[in-house]
Amino acid sequence: MRKTIDWIIHMVGNGIVCSDCGKVESSFPEYIGNFHTHGLDKYGHPELQLVIHMTPKNIGYVLNTLGLRIQAGEKFKAGQLVEGIFLDCPVRLDEFEETGRKVLWVIIPDEKNRFPEDPECSYPYNYQLVPTNQLEQRGGPVS
Ligand SMILES: [Zn+2]
Repeated sequence: MRKTIDWIIHMVGNGIVCSDCGKVESSFPEYIGNFHTHGLDKYGHPELQLVIHMTPKNIGYVLNTLGLRIQAGEKFKAGQLVEGIFLDCPVRLDEFEETGRKVLWVIIPDEKNRFPEDPECSYPYNYQLVPTNQLEQRGGPVS
């Protein structure tokens, strides 16, 4: 079976230097960013997006692990809880429409396994249902 990662991950987050202009991004709330794939559509699947600003290694781990499962034929659906990413909790996939394309957001529960619609859910996990264009304090939508 093919195991080549043939999609890319765009990372737009605070402290990350833009490869185009050298500017360091600082417009997002703390620990929030926009990390998304391009190329999973070739598998007839929506692209994935993550908004919790983890380390680049962890962001790559989450998006590429799901990407490899999609490549192997899995189809993830909105509302689905996905095991096998983190040992102690599932992640949830929620559908969002962003700049005209439907994406699946990877929603990560907080340290007590609370999802963002829970009023007790802690920061930054409780920000995961806010559309990206409302998270960015300046600049246009990211595509
Ligand atoms: Zn992009």
